[in-house]
Amino acid sequence: MIRIDVSKIKNWELIKEKHSEWYYKKIFPQIGIAIEKIEKKYQDNESNQKVTYENQDIVKRYIDLLKKIKSEGKKFVIKENLFFDYKIDEINFLSKIMKKEKKKKSILEEMFLLFKINKKYLPHKLFSYDEFPNHTREWNRHKLLSLTEIEICPYCQRNYISSFEENDDKRTTADLDHFYPKSLYPFLALSLYNFIPSCQICNSRFKGTKDTYNSVYPYEESFDDLGAKFKTSKEIIYEILGEKDSEFFVNINYGNLKDEDNKKVQNSVSNLGLDKVYKKSHNQYIKDLLDNIEKYPEKYLESCVEIFDEYYKDDIKKEIVIKYFIDIIKEPYRKRIENGEPLAKLTKDIFDEFKIKI
Ligand SMILES: [Zn+2]
Repeated sequence: MIRIDVSKIKNWELIKEKHSEWYYKKIFPQIGIAIEKIEKKYQDNESNQKVTYENQDIVKRYIDLLKKIKSEGKKFVIKENLFFDYKIDEINFLSKIMKKEKKKKSILEEMFLLFKINKKYLPHKLFSYDEFPNHTREWNRHKLLSLTEIEICPYCQRNYISSFEENDDKRTTADLDHFYPKSLYPFLALSLYNFIPSCQICNSRFKGTKDTYNSVYPYEESFDDLGAKFKTSKEIIYEILGEKDSEFFVNINYGNLKDEDNKKVQNSVSNLGLDKVYKKSHNQYIKDLLDNIEKYPEKYLESCVEIFDEYYKDDIKKEIVIKYFIDIIKEPYRKRIENGEPLAKLTKDIFDEFKIKI
């Protein structure tokens, strides 16, 4: 997983401005109304026999959350600190009462029925992602994604996510993933710092609605920052380079991670299926990479023996020429790492593992 460095996104301020304005006009007015209506019903029900202390508390804490959201004004959807000053217990509590499973009511929804509160003030309606249009209007999902200019999925760094134009409108092949899923954290369904431009494989095939609370959050850190590395089996690769064909796998090495980061990285790997998609898919790429650097320069020099006759006979000169060729061969890999192209991290980690300087 790659870090999304917003300081490098030149349109980030524009995105924030457009997104908060859209929210302020379209969604924000409803929040004040919701607080008023819910509070009224809450007070009306104080004498209701069925209303226990626990029930009251659930509604009360939802009202408190809405008040916090309202006090942020138009800035709520562009806030970096998604969970305000809440401690882990409160965050768990909120996701527990809001958790929405297929055809099953959330705990909060049950409370709304008990208190006879209109469903439209439930968090998944109030902050409904469906309100954020796909295209045609002034501000939409495609425009946001295109303005980020993120071209490669930050979760897997395998797939391109490209923007294109169609009928004079911006379109993109990317999904807009909700890092904290809508089914557990519906009040974050429209928050900019909960949006991750990603490929469809990562978003739909693997991540789905899994709880990501304790996992690596790309706006803050990456696997590389934390010290997680791709690793092959050195011995087997050398065997392959020596023409003996053996199977090998790419693993993720958690050895250098601090205890508190270990679980987070493991959760991200398993949520996104990164261990599975990297395991064997890029074996040919790794073999070619090592083969190019380890063997090609010498072979090339051999084939140019006539031109480089003088060099070939002199061991010191030969070494200089081989080093020079290695450097030429490394260049595209160096660029791949520098530009963050697909498989950049895999390439960097393989270089590290085989102690190849770039
Ligand atoms: Zn992906």
